[in-house]
Amino acid sequence: MRTEIDCPASPGAYLLVIDLDRPLTFPIAGGRIAALPPGRYAYCGSARGLGGLAARVARHLRHDKLAHWHVDHLTRAGRIVAVGILSDGRECALFDAVSQLSGAEIPVPGLGSSDCARCAAHLAAGGPAFLPRAIGLTDALAA
Ligand SMILES: [Zn+2]
Repeated sequence: MRTEIDCPASPGAYLLVIDLDRPLTFPIAGGRIAALPPGRYAYCGSARGLGGLAARVARHLRHDKLAHWHVDHLTRAGRIVAVGILSDGRECALFDAVSQLSGAEIPVPGLGSSDCARCAAHLAAGGPAFLPRAIGLTDALAA
């Protein structure tokens, strides 16, 4: 697994491209269960706290963590295959771009966007087209 990241410690938004090799289920709000089939997913988030993007992306890349956010279930069970960053950007703008990619779907409404009143979710399901360059970002993960 790739773990070297080229990522600033400043605030901004990021895109995680996550491959799930097996089906994944986990509980979400309202007693519902999110059920995700194997495939490629794109999660858009933002980092505004201490350590900025570098600290947040490094946390996402670790498997040994408690599931605090919805996306933690995916990053624990799956593989992060690419990371894109947008310094000073907003995750909602990234999600708008991702959701316009060919094949993009919202697998579970509200997933990853509990704190956003605007987007239908911050996690999209899709195909191989989900890569940072597809929405104009460079890949911040080094080989
Ligand atoms: Zn949003």
